Amino acid sequence: MTHLRQGYGGQGRSLIRQLAEGATTAVAACQASLDRIRAVEPAIGAFNIVVAERALDRARLLDQARAKGEPLGPLHGVPVALKDNMCTAGVPTTASSRILRGFIPPYDATVVERLDAAGAVLIGKTNLDEFAMGSSTENSALGPSKNPWDTTRTPGGSSGGSAAAVASRMVPLALGSDTGGSIRQPAALCGVVGLKPTYGRVSRYGLMAFASSLDQIGPFAQTAEEAAVVFSAIGGQDPRDATSSSEPMPDLRDALTGDVTGLRIGVPRAFLGEGVDAVVSSAFDAALQVLAARGARLVDIDLPHAGYGIPVYYLIATAEASSNLARYDGVRYGHRATLGKDDGLLEMYERTRDEGFGAEVKRRIMLGTYVLSAGYYDAYYLKAQQVRTLLRQDYERAFGTVDLVATPTTPTPAFTLGEKTSDPIQMYLNDIFTVSANLTGLPAISVPCGFSPGRLPIGFQLTGRMFDEATLLRTADAYQRDTAFHAEEPSLR
Ligand code: GLN
Repeated sequence: MTHLRQGYGGQGRSLIRQLAEGATTAVAACQASLDRIRAVEPAIGAFNIVVAERALDRARLLDQARAKGEPLGPLHGVPVALKDNMCTAGVPTTASSRILRGFIPPYDATVVERLDAAGAVLIGKTNLDEFAMGSSTENSALGPSKNPWDTTRTPGGSSGGSAAAVASRMVPLALGSDTGGSIRQPAALCGVVGLKPTYGRVSRYGLMAFASSLDQIGPFAQTAEEAAVVFSAIGGQDPRDATSSSEPMPDLRDALTGDVTGLRIGVPRAFLGEGVDAVVSSAFDAALQVLAARGARLVDIDLPHAGYGIPVYYLIATAEASSNLARYDGVRYGHRATLGKDDGLLEMYERTRDEGFGAEVKRRIMLGTYVLSAGYYDAYYLKAQQVRTLLRQDYERAFGTVDLVATPTTPTPAFTLGEKTSDPIQMYLNDIFTVSANLTGLPAISVPCGFSPGRLPIGFQLTGRMFDEATLLRTADAYQRDTAFHAEEPSLR
């Protein structure tokens, strides 16, 4: 997918093309990214680490490869950033947690290997809510990232650093992980595209597990077209991740045709009422009209169980997190508490975990342990799994009559830093429209569709059938051909 169309915005698109055509060099692209980071990163705080020397060395090798006439990958020389919960050999990986301070993975995540094979250049690792638990990047042990459109506001989370890095043009592309909305929600709040692929589509080998039945890795970019290039590079089965699917990857090179004629887009009106800002509703409705004008048909649908998404998600995600985070015990990775001479193993575990984990992670471990405990398992965890099945059936029924489901991505534009940190329920309610795709495994994308009067970005979300990322990307791309929200740049005030 190196022959991207000329035309509408997207710095990264033109950069991918220029690199493919040899109109610029990998070193120049890398240097431009590092220069931009030097200029704007102090105001944003998107990165946990920037690996400038490593990136320039790699870019030089890529330029030499081109000079020798070696075959070029589809992301040849393109700078990328990775959420700091993906393992990178020799580069510290912290999950923005004190408990992993000093941890240097001995191996690369599969997505890192695949980006490498595609010719991408790793620029740095981006900030996140600790272990990807949060919706604002404020739960990071390294401090919050800021929204490039208004630095008094959150970029969203948990992949807030990746979203902010792309939005502020420090890198054209980044990866995030999405367990309940952590790619799509920050994409919406920062005005970029974010894709959560189908469960099982992208290998999680080397991703620090949060909730294993929900986690997926996916791209951030300015346009659906660029996101498609990254998705094509990282997707597909991986023998090292038993949950990765053998479903063949679609060939997306000629799939983004701009044609959405006759496509049926379901709109779950009853689910969209409560708690949605008027500015978000009107941007969403306008986005639907753009697609309708291109020939898509809007169809009213019902998702009767979607309203239970938040409680179901926060029971299942915490249950799985409590189990996954048991491995951080001071024995194998990162931080270990200093012990007194009378302290034993149990004190070591307790003190290490107490010092290492932040408040939100502790809250989730406790909640998850509780919902799995004897006597409460049936009432909470099992019940949540049953409602999850009902939700999946809602979507199956809907996909009998429509090809995509559309909702806003978030109920509001970016909120102020500190606004929701003392009220976890308010923070969790941000995820009302995003958790369904994780609970059902369906692919979903967030696309920029407007601005608030205060110039904060707004995004809308499309959810597709299992393994039908192609229709998602085609529709998002068609929409972006008629709109320019994704091409606007924050002034970084
Ligand atoms: N905001 C959600 C949470 O806090 C989703 C996080 C994610 O997708 N990683 O769990």
